[in-house]
Amino acid sequence: MNICEEAKGAAAIGIGGHVRPDGDCVGSAMGLYLYLKKACPESRVQVFLEKPAEIFSCIAGLDEIHADFATDVEAFDLFIALDTSKERLGGAEKYFDEAKKTVNIDHHISNKGSGDVNYIMPKASSTSELIYNVIEDKALIDEEIAKALYIGMMHDTGVFQYSNTSPDTLKTAAELISYGFDFSRLIDETFYEKTYVQNQILGRALLESLLFMDGRCVVSMVDKKTMDFYRAVPADLDGIVNQLRNTRGVECAIFMYQTNVLEYKVSLRSNGKVDVAKVAEFFGGGGHMRAAGVTMPGTFHDIVNNLSGRIAEQLREKE
Ligand code: AMP
Ligand code: MN
Ligand code: MN
Repeated sequence: MNICEEAKGAAAIGIGGHVRPDGDCVGSAMGLYLYLKKACPESRVQVFLEKPAEIFSCIAGLDEIHADFATDVEAFDLFIALDTSKERLGGAEKYFDEAKKTVNIDHHISNKGSGDVNYIMPKASSTSELIYNVIEDKALIDEEIAKALYIGMMHDTGVFQYSNTSPDTLKTAAELISYGFDFSRLIDETFYEKTYVQNQILGRALLESLLFMDGRCVVSMVDKKTMDFYRAVPADLDGIVNQLRNTRGVECAIFMYQTNVLEYKVSLRSNGKVDVAKVAEFFGGGGHMRAAGVTMPGTFHDIVNNLSGRIAEQLREKE
């Protein structure tokens, strides 16, 4: 795909990403936004995303995001959904539905393609890597665009460590760091650094974690009361599930936080044997083979029971 070809003649272009935007979502949306502003100066380009976490404030143009999902555009000539299918666009889904033409760029295996034109590459590390691919005129890339895309790739690959990191991922990252931003500082400040409160909740979640299925699964949970006590927002819980996955002998890690009286947002991580995208899809969520998510109704115990049934089934098939 050449994104400039797709954008040809579009007077109003909208860009959206998934609810609770992560590094890849913010990085790909802002990288594409900054690029389209340069490549299509005659088009009006607007980005619709929930307010990104404070750690992403180093990305250029963040204050131009329409975080309240308001616009004076009646119907976009082109709307581009990034890092998700249209169902998780939140307040931007209506603009996608009403747009004259839609493009969907994503790397989630669960995304069957919800645009008129789709570029869904489940093997790609991140949507940010795909944005680099759809930019044909690489000469227009500048330090700010490169930084945004690098942040997205770095976050979705766990600093180029997870198995979604390919030779192409590293070649793209190599190109991006040649623009000269301080990548080492970016990694520390956006990926590893945690606030005191974030570390406290992480500690608590690890302390209260439970091993089950003969030590092949681990689960932990943070309830609403605890979130309120620490004044924590969902983004403060990022990384907990990855730490759980690092437990020796564990094939599958489950972390959930309470979103309502009988509702939890569940994150799943696998060490390779269990395809957690399949598990999440079964309950209406999605993601990748080794990292997936879903929102589920019920008590903590109901949810663990339901998930472990699907996980055990996969482990039985493979052993
Ligand atoms: P999380 O554990 O929420 O960080 O999500 C892990 C991966 O699964 C990320 O790539 C998410 O974008 C994806 N994911 C999470 N929730 C959903 C969902 N409800 N539907 C589709 N993909 C999801
Ligand atoms: Mn994402
Ligand atoms: Mn992603």
